[in-house]
Amino acid sequence: MYSKESVQRVKQSLVVFISLIQKTWVASPLLARYATISVLSILITYATLSAKKPESGTIENGQNRSAAETDDSQTLTQKKNSLNSTQPATVSQPAPQQTPPEDSITILPLKSGERLIDHLKSRGITTASIYEMIAALKNKVNLNRLQQGTEIGLVYEHNNPLAKEMTLRTAFDTYMSINLRRKPLVAEQHSTPITSVLVRKSGVINDSLIASTQTNNIPIDAVYKVTNIYSYDVDFQRDIRPGTRYEILYEILSVPLYGDSKTGAIKMATLHLHNRSIPVYEYKTISGDVNHFHATGESVQKALLKTPVDGARISSRYGKRKHPILGYYKTHKGIDFGARRGTPIKASGDGIIDRANRYGSYGNYIKIKHKNGYSTAYAHLHRFAKGLKKGKRVKQGDVIGYVGTTGRSTGPHLHYEVLKNNRHVNPARLKFPARTKLSKKDMDKFHAFIEENYMSVPDVADSTQKNHAPE
Ligand SMILES: [Zn+2]
Repeated sequence: MYSKESVQRVKQSLVVFISLIQKTWVASPLLARYATISVLSILITYATLSAKKPESGTIENGQNRSAAETDDSQTLTQKKNSLNSTQPATVSQPAPQQTPPEDSITILPLKSGERLIDHLKSRGITTASIYEMIAALKNKVNLNRLQQGTEIGLVYEHNNPLAKEMTLRTAFDTYMSINLRRKPLVAEQHSTPITSVLVRKSGVINDSLIASTQTNNIPIDAVYKVTNIYSYDVDFQRDIRPGTRYEILYEILSVPLYGDSKTGAIKMATLHLHNRSIPVYEYKTISGDVNHFHATGESVQKALLKTPVDGARISSRYGKRKHPILGYYKTHKGIDFGARRGTPIKASGDGIIDRANRYGSYGNYIKIKHKNGYSTAYAHLHRFAKGLKKGKRVKQGDVIGYVGTTGRSTGPHLHYEVLKNNRHVNPARLKFPARTKLSKKDMDKFHAFIEENYMSVPDVADSTQKNHAPE
C-alpha cells in the first residue's frame, strides 16, 4: 500500500495548486495555463519521487497511454472545459483497488456530449471490450445520464499498455470498478476514501448573512446549512441586523482520488444577536444520534419550523390588515412568505398529510396534522411534490410543494398557517419545547467533546492564531 503521509502531501499540494489556478484563471487564462503546466510537472515529479521511496508504494504518475493523454496542455484544456471538474486530468493517484505497487491510474473527465463508448475508444480500448464493460455497467449505472465531467479511470500495470481495471465515478465518494482481467466482466460499487478538514471563520454581517459570508469566502452550502440549523430559533428577517457577528466551524470533505471537495457538516456556529448569543454544536449522542444542540443540551430541532421556505422574506404578518384583494380589514390568519415561483416548501414538522388539493381561495393547498393537536397549512402552491397525497407521512424538512400564486393571490408567495386544536395561532409567537434534551451522561461528554474538538480549531480570520495547528 502507499504511504498515507505522501498521499497527504500530494493532496495538500493539489488543493493549494487548484485554488491558485482557479484564482489565476480569472485574472489571466494564459498565465494560468503556464502555471498549471509547470506546477503539474513539479507535482508529477514529486509523485514519481515519492513512489520510488520504499514505503510510498503505488504513487506514480499516470503513464500516458494514448494520443489523447500525451499532451499536458491538451488534457488541461479538457479540464478547463469540463464542468466542475477540479482535478488535473492526468495527475497520478493510487489505484482504487489494492494492487501491486507499480499500478497507476489515469483519470480523465467525460467531455461535453461525449458518450462512454467514444471516451473509452479515444483512450485505446477495443470496441469489443467496451461493449463488455457497458454490459457490466448497464444495470448499475444509468449510462444515458452520465454527466459531462464524470471521471473515468483506467488502471495499468507497469510496462503493460493494456488497462487492467476501469473505474467510473458515480457520486462524490463512490465509484464503480470493473476488473478487466476477470471474465465475464462484473461492475462493483466502492466507496472512495475521503478526508475531512475543519475550518473556522467569523465575521460581521453588514448587509445580509449571505453577502457577508460570501465576502468572507464561506461556501454557500455552509451558509444554507447554518440558516437551516437556525431556522428554529432565528427569524432571519427581523433578528439579523447590520453588525450581527457570527462564527462558523464547518467541515470540508475532500476526495484525494478525484482531487475535489465539498462542504460537510456544520460543527459549530454562533450568532451574536443584539439581545442574545446562540451557539449551536454538532454532537453524536451515546446512543449514536447526530444532531445540533444548544449549550444547554437541548436539540435545536423543534416541533415546528419557523420558516418553511428557504431564503424567503415575510411579506405579510399575522393579524388585522387591509386585504390586498378584498379591500376591507380582516384578520390575516397566517404569515405570507414572498418567494419566487417554484421555491420548495418544506413540511414544518413530522406529521401526516391531511389534505393536498385545490381548496377555494387558498388555491393549491396542503394541510399537515402534527402531534399535540397542531396542524400547519400551506396555500397558493404552484404545485404539489410528486406523490404527495392525503394519508402520506412526512418528515420535518421534506419538500411538500412549490411556491405559486394559485387561488386568491396577488403574486407568488406562501401563505402559512399554524392551528392548535383547529384554531389559528400566530406562527411567529409559537414556543415549542425542544425535541430532545441530552441526558446527564451525555451532557458531561458533550461539554468535553466541544472543548476538545471544536474550541481548539483556530479562526482563519484571526492572523494571531494562524500558527496554531488544528487538532
Ligand atoms: Zn396570506
